[in-house]
Amino acid sequence: MKKDHVDIPAPSSRFYKVECADCNEQQVVYSHATTRVFCNQCGNPLAASSGSKARIEGGHVKGAVDHVAEIPATTGAEPE
Ligand SMILES: [Zn+2]
Repeated sequence: MKKDHVDIPAPSSRFYKVECADCNEQQVVYSHATTRVFCNQCGNPLAASSGSKARIEGGHVKGAVDHVAEIPATTGAEPE
């Protein structure tokens, strides 16, 4: 019998919304960035590669960014 609900395997890579510690500019940083990521506004290093996952070092993670544009909002989640 086929399962009614099959979980969609989520990729381990995400995009994070990172707020710069210096100028509070928010920027999207790939969780597995392989190069250093700098703030667009002030050049502060936000993240550095640490082998596999990027290490957030110059900012604060404010949340994850999902591909909301590609997924219809049918989860009933409240908009931010
Ligand atoms: Zn900055």
